Parts: sequence; C-alpha cells; structure tokens
Amino acid sequence: MGYAPRVIFIFIDGLGIGPADPEVNPLLVARMPTLASWVGTTDPDAWLAGVSNERASLTPLDATLGVDGLPQSATGQTSLYAGVNAAELLRRHMPGYPNKALQAILATRGVLPTLVRAGCSAAFVNAYTFRRIPEYLTRRRPLSATTVMSLAAFGGFRTSEDVRRGEAVFHDLTNRGLRRRGENVPVIEPREAGEIIARVAAVHHFTLFEYFLTDLAGHRQRMHRATLYLEDVDEMLNGIRSAVDFARTLLIVTSDHGNVEDLSTRGHTRKPVPLITVGTERERFRGLTSITDVTPACVALLLEDERGRVKED
Ligand SMILES: [Zn+2]
Repeated sequence: MGYAPRVIFIFIDGLGIGPADPEVNPLLVARMPTLASWVGTTDPDAWLAGVSNERASLTPLDATLGVDGLPQSATGQTSLYAGVNAAELLRRHMPGYPNKALQAILATRGVLPTLVRAGCSAAFVNAYTFRRIPEYLTRRRPLSATTVMSLAAFGGFRTSEDVRRGEAVFHDLTNRGLRRRGENVPVIEPREAGEIIARVAAVHHFTLFEYFLTDLAGHRQRMHRATLYLEDVDEMLNGIRSAVDFARTLLIVTSDHGNVEDLSTRGHTRKPVPLITVGTERERFRGLTSITDVTPACVALLLEDERGRVKED
C-alpha cells in the first residue's frame, strides 16, 4: 500500500502578519495554545522570517499579488483557491464576490473542482442554510469563491442535515448562527467543530473549512471580538489536533489578505499572510512565496500520490 496523504485546508479570512503592538494586533492578545505548541511564537518578526521546527512550519506569503492598492476578497480568494493571479488578470484588487470572469476560473481551476475531476474525494465542511441554497442555485444571490467551487465540484452544499450527522459545521464553529436562522441543530464548542472537520477529513483526500469572522472583526476594529474569534479558531485547531494523525495528514492554515492583525485601520492591509503547515509533508510548502502557490502545491501533493498509488496497485 502506498502512503496516502490527506490535506485539511483551514481558510482564515483577513489574517495577516501584523505589527508587534498588542494595542492593535489581537494575535498578541488572544490565548492560542494550540498554535503556540506548533509554531512556538506569535512574534511578528519571527513569523516574517519564517518558522520551521519538528512540528510545524510558518511561511509568510505575499498577498499584494504585485498590484497597487489594498488586497481584496474576490481577487485574493480566487488567487488562493485557484492558483491564478486574479488581481494581475483584472489589473486591480476586486472586493466582495467574484465576478463572472473570476467565477469561471474558480469553477475550472479551483482546488475543489480540480481535485474532484482528478478522482480525489474532496469535502467542503461548511454548512449552508436551507433558506439560502435555492438563492445560490438560481444565482439570485452573489456567490462567494467557495460557493462557486462547491457548486462546480459537488453541485450543492452541506446543510444542517449534515450538521446533525456530525459531518458539517456552520462557519461560526458553534452552529449558533444556524439555530438563530431557525435550523434545528445542536450548539457545539469550537473544539468539537475541529473534531468534526477531522472526522470528515478521515474519509476524504482534501477537506476545506472557511472561517471569515476574523475579517468582519477587522473591518469593525473590534479588539475584544477579534480576540475571541482567534481563540475559537485555536480551540477548533485543538480539536483537529486531538483527532488527526499528522503522519498522514497535512494541515494547512492560511488566508487571502491581511486585516484583523492591525486594528488601527478598518480596511485590509498589504501585510503578508501566514502559511502554517503541520504534518510530515509540511516542508514541501516552505519555499512558497505567494498566495497563488498554495493550491498548486496541494494539488501536486495529492495527485502525485494518486499516481504513485495507481502504479503500486
Ligand atoms: Zn474584508
């Protein structure tokens, strides 16, 4: 039997490497023991220099994409998820939701449809509300980058039914938002959300979870909220750690652009974003320099193995 790596990809919206000032950088305030146990430090200068130890690697990635102005979500997420420099293509950073051109890129070259087409099993763990799904299917609401990819790869989404089966989580890591929207699901702790992500990852080659409350807290310049959200993320990572064998699972935590790491400004930042990798294959990602590099590296890792396995069989 060949070695079969699995990838868990945790996307944290708006998380850059910030200033060394706890007045404005919630990463220096939040209690993040899981992250600390991997990376060893939250010192921004250490992060900018890159960290590598026997547990984890942290590599700073450029999110400006060589284009003036502040990095934005539509171009940043397309670049991250499809490995295409979308800002260069449009000659600007595009905020909000991907336009038709970016949607086409995500639907063809996005990491989820690319892996599914190549015969890998992939999962997007985020649960969608039943009220929203028809609006996405009929394109009556703008589609996020992950929504475009999920439609292209699976034709739909995980829902509160998957949440009740323990096979999906709402983006808030607790399901509280789903309950507020009238869906009958249990409230969970962020740590359990991590365990659910790990459980889904155990039966898929590639598992994606998207967290975006960090970006909202950054726009609202709310230190207390930002700190709580980062602590929730750390608890979720703790849940993943408790349930995953890092000898065969690569955990990736990264972002599309800076925002929450500098609450002195309400907009995004041009700061690099951290690429944190945990697991045996982590060093393969050490040479990456841009958010456009992440998806090609994931696809190469999973498809090279797939070819190796087929050969051995
Ligand atoms: Zn934003």
